[in-house]
Amino acid sequence: MRKFTDDTLLVATHNAGKLDEIRALLAPYGVTVLGAGEKGLAVPDETETTFVGNARIKAHAGAVATGLPALSDDSGIVIDALDGAPGVHTADWAETGQGRDFVMAMTRAHDALVARKAPQPWTGRFCCTLVLAWPDGHDEVFEGTVDGWIVWPMRGASGHGYDPVFEPLGYDLTFGEMDPKQKNRISHRADAFRKLVERCFG
Ligand code: IMP
Repeated sequence: MRKFTDDTLLVATHNAGKLDEIRALLAPYGVTVLGAGEKGLAVPDETETTFVGNARIKAHAGAVATGLPALSDDSGIVIDALDGAPGVHTADWAETGQGRDFVMAMTRAHDALVARKAPQPWTGRFCCTLVLAWPDGHDEVFEGTVDGWIVWPMRGASGHGYDPVFEPLGYDLTFGEMDPKQKNRISHRADAFRKLVERCFG
């Protein structure tokens, strides 16, 4: 397991919601965090069929382009009654051709569950794969999940993406209703981060 010993880390994402969460999660470690947008990086095509495959594409592209260690996050929501969809296509379900519309994406997930007459509760989980890659091609992979229910109607205006329709197990708030600090303690990203920090920042 390789340790992170630099003082600057590229976070290979153009997703502002993810970047904010990752900055907050890394704040205690005194690392300077740069986003892909700040470095003017292109968005690589996510051509793999797994979270880890797509996370590797993003992290290695970022590390090669900048010469910095690069951290990527590939994540999504997996809904059991939809055979795991949208899964690696979570962001694609929000694509309109003119940006992303997550209300549309959440409505699509809800409508698919209703069309299938899927019995409630609608179980699912958020999954997160983090890849820390170095310019020499080495990488480390960490995975995290949080189980919960898909709820309808949407609730809460904080967070990002599918947060308003996801209620984590053991809570009666959706991620969209939860204080971001609380979400950052229990989320799929927090789970993967705990492993990353323990092994690479310890
Ligand atoms: P990708 O990893 O860039 O392919 O996109 C993953 C998509 O999953 C994001 O655009 C969000 O829609 C969704 N997603 C990932 N993590 C979260 C989260 O913490 N809350 C809500 N939606 C999320």
